[in-house]
Amino acid sequence: MYLVVGCPKCGAVRVAARGVKTTSCPTCGKRFKVDSAAVHFETDSPERARSAAALARAGDSIAIPDIVQRPAKPVKAASGMAAALAIAKWLSKDGIGFSEGAFLETAGEQGLKGAGAFFKKLRENAEIYEASCGRWLAVRRKA
Ligand SMILES: [Zn+2]
Repeated sequence: MYLVVGCPKCGAVRVAARGVKTTSCPTCGKRFKVDSAAVHFETDSPERARSAAALARAGDSIAIPDIVQRPAKPVKAASGMAAALAIAKWLSKDGIGFSEGAFLETAGEQGLKGAGAFFKKLRENAEIYEASCGRWLAVRRKA
């Protein structure tokens, strides 16, 4: 679990792994206890924590709640391409996009085998597109 915490002295945000007792502020250098700092939110993805910290630094308070309200995991019963697509859609919900690594990691958690091949197939089938360098989003289709 990763926490995005605010420095008690200057308010600068940083990512801290849960379980780490103290960390130092990258901006003012103050050392502080993680469990007494303001937690902006938490996630089990280090990548998402970094994205979220970047948003917080940019003062983008509107985008942050979308990350906090993490949607339910894709249905485990889905298999093959259906599961791959469900995972891609799920990872796209925060609108930031996901890396191939995040897809593989989530697919692994969901028990989807051969995730690399599915990622390639999603690209070939234009189910996902590269929204920005190395970040992918599921294509929204009309129902
Ligand atoms: Zn500070």
